[in-house]
Amino acid sequence: MGAAKHLAPDLAPTSMKVDVAIVGAGFAGMYMLYRARQAGFTARVFERGGGVGGTWYWNRYPGARCDVPSLEYSYQFSDELQQEWEWSEKYATQPEILRYAEHVADRFDLRRDISFNTTVISLQWHNDAWLVTTTAANDASPHREHTTTARFVVLGTGCLSSANVPRFPDDHLFTGGTYHTGAWPHEGVDFSGRRVAVIGTGSSGIQSIPLIAEQAAHLTVMQRTPAYSIPARNQQLAPEYVASIKANYAEFRRKNSLTRAALGGDTPTGPHGASEVNEVERRAALEERWQKGGLLFLGAFNDALTNPESNRLIADFVRDKIRSTVRNPDTARKLTPDDIIGCKRLCVDTEYYETFNRPNVSLIDLREQPIERFTANGVVVRSATGSRSSEEHEFDAIVFATGFDAMTGAISKISITGRNGTMLRDAWSAGPVNYLGLSVHGFPNLFTITGPGSPSVLTNMIVSIQHHVEWIADCITWLKDHRMSTIEADADAQQRWVQHVNTVAGMTLYQSCSSWYLGANVPGKPRIFMPLPGFPAYAQTCADVARDGYRGFAVSHH
Ligand code: NAP
Repeated sequence: MGAAKHLAPDLAPTSMKVDVAIVGAGFAGMYMLYRARQAGFTARVFERGGGVGGTWYWNRYPGARCDVPSLEYSYQFSDELQQEWEWSEKYATQPEILRYAEHVADRFDLRRDISFNTTVISLQWHNDAWLVTTTAANDASPHREHTTTARFVVLGTGCLSSANVPRFPDDHLFTGGTYHTGAWPHEGVDFSGRRVAVIGTGSSGIQSIPLIAEQAAHLTVMQRTPAYSIPARNQQLAPEYVASIKANYAEFRRKNSLTRAALGGDTPTGPHGASEVNEVERRAALEERWQKGGLLFLGAFNDALTNPESNRLIADFVRDKIRSTVRNPDTARKLTPDDIIGCKRLCVDTEYYETFNRPNVSLIDLREQPIERFTANGVVVRSATGSRSSEEHEFDAIVFATGFDAMTGAISKISITGRNGTMLRDAWSAGPVNYLGLSVHGFPNLFTITGPGSPSVLTNMIVSIQHHVEWIADCITWLKDHRMSTIEADADAQQRWVQHVNTVAGMTLYQSCSSWYLGANVPGKPRIFMPLPGFPAYAQTCADVARDGYRGFAVSHH
């Protein structure tokens, strides 16, 4: 560490040695720690936040809850845990999920191996080990750097953890409060009596808008692209239903893992394409799913994301629902999407469209009225009249529900230097190449949990996390048992894998819009479809690769 030479002796880097360094104490990092310990490795987790929970630690905005049912959005590695934990609602709120994460940390005594308020700033491959440099946000010794030596590094940095805060001309002038949904103040924000703007209408905007509207004096929603949103139909969980799942939890989990999204095994995808049935049957099937609510809406038919005509028929159904809910025809028009449904991730809401019938809510369509600049008091947009004039809207607070630098954002904040001085940012300059979404050529003994190139964000994240953690734990145990020191993706295998992900994504309609799956929401980010559709086939491939002695990886002896 060259920089360390300039530090006073009491600020010199301290050193620790572990088998496995884990970045992030969200659901991925916590379980990785648990499995590493179980396999007999020493491990240390470095966590930027002051507590466990990852995305659920940071996303405390009003209305934040998971849109995967609680009984599925939970760990399955411990039957005692899944039997004893009581979820209260079909879709758990952020505070309840955070309590669950904290419970897991306590129950499995994880905290003693987690360094909180600690940011990993660099990873450097040196003498067959990783040098992990961290800084701790510790008031007593700010900017103190520590170096940990680790044989393996596992990145559990989260797919939606690096906030995307777009810049607007003169945005520094605004004197009111500004908030990002993904970095919400822990003490909460009181919008009572205030004029609030929300910029962005993805999942976070759609969840927070109805609640902010209830509190604020006036809410102005600034929408660039209208989203498709399906009612959640959230409810308290009936004890008899929970008991029936818990009586046969393993089978419930197994059925879920056999679906494409590792989600909703009890509601299988319909056997027909949407254009194969007549209109009466189609409407009936869609209405049934609409009434049931949630993400499985798109599973009414088996070709929603492969057949453009079927997709249009399904989208028409939702467009009709929006028009029949929103009373003001001009607002309804603006809220009605015209693109492929499901291309951007589907949203799930409670009273989102109904919120626009409130007298204190208005909508600005940024495609018709782009933001020109910020002022001390608010935001200037192009005038609605179609003339060249502008209009200023005054706000006391602006909420950025503008999403994340997804899948690679948190990783690219760390300076990662692999074999022969290769920087990960260079290796990924044209997109995040990798093998299996787990490993990158040139970066030995470095693993990504739910990284680009794996099903990840197209699935129930906890299932994908568990799958990756177990695969990684088995892999490093195998290395130990076979007295091997390093493992790394082969260049050829990586090339073929990237091609495979492109081919599979190319068979879908996912590439037809500017989604965060493609990196299209972040200016300058290379456009490449990052996740791989289809969990079961992927999990089979990972199992086959391991069974074949880690086919496609280069492994070296001590
Ligand atoms: P998002 O889906 O990326 O939505 C961001 C919104 O901000 C979009 O409407 C986007 O418009 C808009 N936006 C971005 N940059 C803008 C700019 N410069 N000017 C104006 N508008 C701009 O982000 P998110 O809502 O935080 O959700 C991200 C993902 O997190 C979700 O897709 C989901 O996977 C996950 N999530 C899940 C839950 C849940 O479980 N219920 C809740 C929240 C989030 P464009 O569409 O035009 O880019």
